[in-house]
Amino acid sequence: MKQFKAESKKLLDLVVNSIYTNREIFLRELISNASDAIDKRRFMALTDSSLDAEYVIDIEPNKAARTLTVSDNGIGMSAKELEDNLGVIAASGTEAFKKERDGTDTENLIGQFGVGFYAAFMVAEKVTVISRKAGESVAHKWESDGSSGFEISDAERDTAGTSVILTLKPDDDENYSRYLEKSALRALVKKYSDYIRYPVRMPEEKKADGGATVEEMSTLNSMTPVWKKRRSDLGENELDDFYKHTYRDFTAPLLTVSTSVEGRACYTALLFVPSEPSYDYYTKDYKRGLALYCNGVLIMDKCAELIPEYLGFVRGVVDTPDLALNISRETLQHNRQLRVIAEGLEKKILSEFAKLLKNDREKYEKLFTAFSKAIKYGAYDNFGAEKDKLKDLFLYYSDANKKLVTFKEYAEKLTDGDKILYACGETVEKISMLPQLEGARAAGKDVLYFVDPVDEFVARMLDEYDGHKFENVASGNADGGETGASGHEELIKRIEKSLKGKASVAPTSKLKSYPVCLAAKGDVSLEMERVMTALGGGIKADRVLQVNLDHPVIAALESADDARFDDTVTVLYNEALIAEGYKTEPEFLAAINRLLAFGGSAAPKKKSGRKNTDVDGKTSDGVKAEKAPDEK
Ligand code: ADP
Repeated sequence: MKQFKAESKKLLDLVVNSIYTNREIFLRELISNASDAIDKRRFMALTDSSLDAEYVIDIEPNKAARTLTVSDNGIGMSAKELEDNLGVIAASGTEAFKKERDGTDTENLIGQFGVGFYAAFMVAEKVTVISRKAGESVAHKWESDGSSGFEISDAERDTAGTSVILTLKPDDDENYSRYLEKSALRALVKKYSDYIRYPVRMPEEKKADGGATVEEMSTLNSMTPVWKKRRSDLGENELDDFYKHTYRDFTAPLLTVSTSVEGRACYTALLFVPSEPSYDYYTKDYKRGLALYCNGVLIMDKCAELIPEYLGFVRGVVDTPDLALNISRETLQHNRQLRVIAEGLEKKILSEFAKLLKNDREKYEKLFTAFSKAIKYGAYDNFGAEKDKLKDLFLYYSDANKKLVTFKEYAEKLTDGDKILYACGETVEKISMLPQLEGARAAGKDVLYFVDPVDEFVARMLDEYDGHKFENVASGNADGGETGASGHEELIKRIEKSLKGKASVAPTSKLKSYPVCLAAKGDVSLEMERVMTALGGGIKADRVLQVNLDHPVIAALESADDARFDDTVTVLYNEALIAEGYKTEPEFLAAINRLLAFGGSAAPKKKSGRKNTDVDGKTSDGVKAEKAPDEK
């Protein structure tokens, strides 16, 4: 007896004992596996015609034995494959499963993590698989009760393929016996597996000519792939159901696009935008691509060439008669026809996005929010080659409107020479509290919030929209920004000296209630510095501490002694850091404590330098001044 892999076992327990209500989907899972197995054999038969066969999937209930058998003449499995494929739950899903298990309901797990075959244990107390690999002469049997493990032994099978034999559980709250009823099976195939491209058959009684009844295999499904069906022939939720099942997603797609093209290239495509990125979308495990069929024969599961990287979240199917069936994967990559199709699909998808933006704003906002990182990346990638087709699809949160707007909507309110102002930060909430916004708000100007690291790079790439240049409100050159020092030159110099090279200092008029904020001069913004640092690069922004000369704190600096001056500047600089979402400096807390010890009124009597033991060590009333936690 071999044991299931540890993680599989846990999941299996869940599947078997789950409160999963929709047990009937086991049949769909088995039929779909059978269909995949036939796809694989059919693909091999393209180059080895001895493998060709009349492909079928047969369902046979046996009331006397209380078994239901699903058999196919697909690729089959060797003993090792039986062990590898059925002894462990889809390997890629297992890790993710472990991570996501908490708080996710079982139903979703079954959908997302590909436990297809194991669904059999929802209705069966024993599952027997007899399989013979195409091209081999021996067959093997895999058998399991779904809990204690599985056994593999030699077996007989006349032809290549796989039979999955379910010994149904005894009826309890659930009526498992109904899976032996032909009418129920017929309905289940129609409901879940109608589009399967191979005949799904079941023995049915027919009146023979003489009047006696005979059993004959009859086909239950229409065999038309969903992407070939006419709209009017599609069942109400047929496309959604196809999507959910094929891509193991329990949520219906946000957008479904079907297109049929005849021209430079001929193809039919059925594309889906999921409701959210799949759990591995932003990892390198994610493989983008559309399924590629040539006249109904699956050539490739995930053909990456069919979809640009920035639309990698789009799933679906392309069927074209234009390719030679026996085309190899290597030549596919350079196939001209494929490139024409890919271009057509990209255009189609973007035009559907634009249509959605126009006609169903709410839905588009959902779509864009879910995939904005990917789509924006498209404008930045390839040195901005695609930026012009994408820029009108972007949405940004607007400070003035408190909702998402397009560049176009933002620019409509501008007059010649106005800039498109933006502010960067981690979240809408954090940006909304940035001191740098005060000036723009006072001047009645709107500011776009850039919450994705890629946003500012995209803005640089676009350079302008409708003649309006982009400008970061935190840039040293920002509109309504730096003013003359007008008589405060000495103060500015003194602050700069106190900052010891951490930043230069410039007066600004953009602040109202805040005394200072941080900005960057030149080409590298603070946001870019952050992104570069995260990527391991060493590009530094040229920092400017912008000061509001009208603010009482700044005014008070004029009369402060050296110690108090330095501490105040330290606190102000750190205040600017905090507003920008940076960590504070170690000296920050000590400086605050010293200032608090001064009581906020008069400076200590003794003229004190930085090493003032009175406040650094003991104060006059014997209270020990706190040291910052990371101060050495
Ligand atoms: P998935 O189909 O998502 O990979 P399953 O648990 O349904 O996960 O199946 C696991 C693997 O077992 C499949 O990937 C396939 O290699 C193999 N398998 C299942 N059913 C069959 C079958 N009828 N014929 C050949 N191989 C099969």
